[in-house]
Amino acid sequence: MNKAAAKKGKKIKEIAIREAWCKGCAICVEVCPKQVLVMDHLVAKVANLEACIVCGRCELFCPDFCIEVIPDVQDNS
Ligand code: SF4
Ligand code: SF4
Repeated sequence: MNKAAAKKGKKIKEIAIREAWCKGCAICVEVCPKQVLVMDHLVAKVANLEACIVCGRCELFCPDFCIEVIPDVQDNS
């Protein structure tokens, strides 16, 4: 599981990618309006989480249910 999380005020957002399920189609990269995601050796990765606007397109369009966008993660740090 490749997780990325960023602080946004008191709450943080997180994009969780189930790498084992990813088939490397790059649809998530293409549908993201903010270039948050990149392909790395045929696996999707989060490259710029700060730019994510939590639109949910990557999660919606991934045909293999690899991505989970979590807008409000409790910041315990
Ligand atoms: S939620 Fe939207 S902005 Fe964030 S990574 Fe997914 S497609 Fe890109
Ligand atoms: S859309 Fe899903 S299967 Fe395709 S590259 Fe992105 S995470 Fe992997």
